[in-house]
Amino acid sequence: MNIYNLTYDELESYFLSIGEKKYRASQVFEWLYKKRVTSFSEMTNLGNKLISVLEKEFSFYIPTIVNSEHDKDVDKFLFKLQDGEHIESVLMHHDYGLSLCISSQVGCNMGCVFCESGKRKKVRNLEVYEMLLQIIEIERITKKRISHIVIMGIGEPFDNFDNLVKFITNCNDYRALEIGSRHITVSTCGIVPKIYEFSKLPYQVNLAISLHSAFDDKRSKIMPVNKAYPLKDVIDAVKDYYSVTGRRITFEYILLDGINNSVDDAKELCKLVKGLNCYINLIPYNEGSSMGFKRPKNDAIMKFYDIIKKEGINVTVRREFGSKISAACGQLRSKKEEE
Ligand code: SF4
Repeated sequence: MNIYNLTYDELESYFLSIGEKKYRASQVFEWLYKKRVTSFSEMTNLGNKLISVLEKEFSFYIPTIVNSEHDKDVDKFLFKLQDGEHIESVLMHHDYGLSLCISSQVGCNMGCVFCESGKRKKVRNLEVYEMLLQIIEIERITKKRISHIVIMGIGEPFDNFDNLVKFITNCNDYRALEIGSRHITVSTCGIVPKIYEFSKLPYQVNLAISLHSAFDDKRSKIMPVNKAYPLKDVIDAVKDYYSVTGRRITFEYILLDGINNSVDDAKELCKLVKGLNCYINLIPYNEGSSMGFKRPKNDAIMKFYDIIKKEGINVTVRREFGSKISAACGQLRSKKEEE
């Protein structure tokens, strides 16, 4: 098992189980997350005997960045994993800091028709270390601190729930990455039972739900997950989430020209979310992908926006990142596979 797979509590239990003192966990976390060493042999205050025990027990494998593309406000990184699979992370430069969009699976089973990542079925879940090291490695090579994390890259995070929870634990832990939970956003396509489970976690993490249509039949066509979890069930889960956590939810809505951006679409969206404590994030489609959809013209985007705004609903149009490079999720990896 990779050492980064463990939470602080798990590492403490491990040390107790081998007759060591609990404080060893604090020493190891300091080396891993604060000093950022890349081998056990650098953990000089552990002593040679304990270092060789850890070397036998745990792996220290670090996924490698094998390709990257850069534009002025976005950097995209392709990682090669130990088994030869590839995943991507996208670093976005905002006024408020650096936000990293990370992947949670190799491939994805959700099959959203506009998504490059969904073209390839899920191969496997990412382990906790493979999620954490996307952050650590990008911080190492950019020499910059990442302040915000969005789990919205390749994969459906709620389809990898247990590892997601441990990942959030280590992101948030002051002894590990120390990223405030309000700076972490999990984005799901709407796996309803997991929304209920997520609301019970002891974290103030943000939740975003990909909606993309307020009509069940249309949503089922572009997001097959809607057949299992239709809109009514998603909205019931969102209401429960709000009653348990008191936290506002974000709805992501990708604008696909001629598909989901009509006046009727906007009005139905308003009806669906009216009265919910929510925020709608409109995302103009990134035509850099090979999925064949079109980005609506700017005036059509603004018309859609205005209809929602006039209803008094919080709405923004997401700033477009990386339309010149392969910044939509899955594009850099697709390129690699075509080579
Ligand atoms: S949009 Fe997200 S959930 Fe849908 S196929 Fe792509 S990666 Fe999977």
